[in-house]
Amino acid sequence: MDCIDFIWMKVTHAMAGEMSLQPVVEEQTCYCCARRSRHWAVPLYESRVDSYIRLEVPICAPCNALFHGSYHYLGINRGTVEKPIAPGKLGLLVGCGLIVSQTRTLLLANPGWAKRLHSAEQPLFENVVQASGKAAMEYAIETIRELPESEFPLVYIHDIGRKKTELVQQLEYTPSRDLIIACSPEPPIKLDMRLIDDLRTLATRDKKTWTTLRLLIIDHCYGRIAPNDKPLQIFLANHPQARALAQRLPVDPHEKLQLLRAVS
Ligand SMILES: [Zn+2]
Repeated sequence: MDCIDFIWMKVTHAMAGEMSLQPVVEEQTCYCCARRSRHWAVPLYESRVDSYIRLEVPICAPCNALFHGSYHYLGINRGTVEKPIAPGKLGLLVGCGLIVSQTRTLLLANPGWAKRLHSAEQPLFENVVQASGKAAMEYAIETIRELPESEFPLVYIHDIGRKKTELVQQLEYTPSRDLIIACSPEPPIKLDMRLIDDLRTLATRDKKTWTTLRLLIIDHCYGRIAPNDKPLQIFLANHPQARALAQRLPVDPHEKLQLLRAVS
């Protein structure tokens, strides 16, 4: 099942009654996820006017949950509780994180969003934790690692952002506690938790070796040193533990740097 369908089945379908959903009569292609209607979890869509091309376009029900504004489920987006100007929208929760597992849902929001979401009569998310930035990601990772096996696979979005199409197309499942996939409208961050733990152990036990290894990896990622660089080779030859860890790093330089950021 596609991740956006999974989020619909677990949470966002609650808003279906408020949407102007139509049944699929002829085959449609969702303007957001680009999937044909035969692949949708439910044969329902909403016709929405695209603000750029000014034409009506079909959005499948699961994607539509990102576009749908709801005072009842998502509180307010602009204005105050007394004078609301616009309703809350899932696809506008910039900087907010979301974990949807098999039986649980958790939204991570900064205090501003949390307050606006709390003004909903029937909040879509039962659990809203106030956290943002790096602290929110750390909290999410700790939470995911404490979940029982039966909660996987799950979807973890570290930043919902505002680019809905990009978000839907970048969604990937987190298969287990050992490999956490942090999604956003950008390509996902893949966190090999066993490797992160081992790197953290090195960082605690042998700070000097860790600092040197880290700087060499960063230099290598930015193309400042070649893989056959002499100081790098000498360092790795003299530090077998660091060498073994370096060999487990992802090949992609961008992924390497993201992993290093998660360690420290
Ligand atoms: Zn769609």
